[in-house]
Amino acid sequence: SFSALDFIPLDPHYTLKKLYSADNYEKKVILGSGIYRDDNSKPWVLPTVKKAEEIIDNAQDSGRYEYLPITGYAPFHNAARELLFGSLGEKANQFVSVHTLAGTGANSLGAQFLKESLSPSAVWVSGPTWVNHYNIWGLVGVEVKTYPYWSASKKGLDLEKMIHTLETDASAGDVIVLHACAHNPTGLDPTKEQWKKIADVCERKKLFPFFDCAYLGFASGDLDEDAWAVRHFFSRGTLELAVAQSFSKNMGLYGERVGAFHLYTASPDAASKAHGHISHLQRGSVSTPPTRGAKIAATILTSPDLFQEWLLDLQEMTSRIKNMRKALRDNLVSLGTPGNWDHICSQIGMFSYTGLTPEQVATVQADSHVYILKSGRISIAGLTSSNVRYVAEAMDAAVRK
Ligand code: PMP
Repeated sequence: SFSALDFIPLDPHYTLKKLYSADNYEKKVILGSGIYRDDNSKPWVLPTVKKAEEIIDNAQDSGRYEYLPITGYAPFHNAARELLFGSLGEKANQFVSVHTLAGTGANSLGAQFLKESLSPSAVWVSGPTWVNHYNIWGLVGVEVKTYPYWSASKKGLDLEKMIHTLETDASAGDVIVLHACAHNPTGLDPTKEQWKKIADVCERKKLFPFFDCAYLGFASGDLDEDAWAVRHFFSRGTLELAVAQSFSKNMGLYGERVGAFHLYTASPDAASKAHGHISHLQRGSVSTPPTRGAKIAATILTSPDLFQEWLLDLQEMTSRIKNMRKALRDNLVSLGTPGNWDHICSQIGMFSYTGLTPEQVATVQADSHVYILKSGRISIAGLTSSNVRYVAEAMDAAVRK
């Protein structure tokens, strides 16, 4: 009976949110999930999204609530692919692109498909990585192994250890999950030279690269630059690869569930076969994806004017985040908080891996009502000009305790 089931604890993000919601303290702050907030701690609907919604609503298309094809809204997944890979010409025939339930859906569909087609002995994820990677791959029954990534002592990338582990322990046909840019949770990306070495090891060891791309536009502020790693692997011409792409963050379409899975194969024939398998998996899990979010994203991606305006919206989000990084670091420095806090500014994307210990995280929560994940990762987008000093003081007190 169900009472014999194991107890599965709630995902740490949701536990944190629950505790935060139950807290009545006026100055409480949550820096958990990667959700953009404006400087008043309010959700922000991108002005470009509002314009795209108007266009869709004014069209009064009687077919707007019809089912989409199994692989979803083609104008969306084609434009999404072009955003990542640029113009593909003939090479497009070697791709399968499917519209998915956001980045999670793309990771999940990809995991199901890669398990079925490659039967990997393991999937390799960075230490640390987005917690849901463990969940998603665990559910499809592939062993999850960790490659070294973050060095706590260097507060940087441990490339040698990463390469060494993959060289020594990974097997041909294993999948390696790579964060395309703005690594979650560390905010630390490989340099171009380091990416080349990672691509070399994938080639040598015949590993299948599966990029998770949830923050395009949040790393360098330039979409092409943020797509560099994916394009580099693709342009070598020696690797097949996949990408799970999300528009949750860069278009602020979190709840609309807008994403795509792209598979690049060695030949049009391989792509056509993979298309059948992926469609079969999608049919059995969601049948067809939801329409509205993908239509909003496609409207923005395919209209030159809206696209330019979207770049400005992205810039608004990324510059606010950068300002908050600086404000937090400057406040810690002005408080004389023991330690070096420069990494808060050098890290990129939505997060900072602060280096706070689990004990310090517990202290900021208990004493100051500041809610942070146990790993010490904070979502910078949760900081505002009104709460950043308070958060710095909370961190300062915890570090000195
Ligand atoms: N991958 C990573 C690394 C993420 O951080 C996230 C969002 N937290 C996702 C994928 C998926 O997000 P979504 O399903 O909302 O697109």
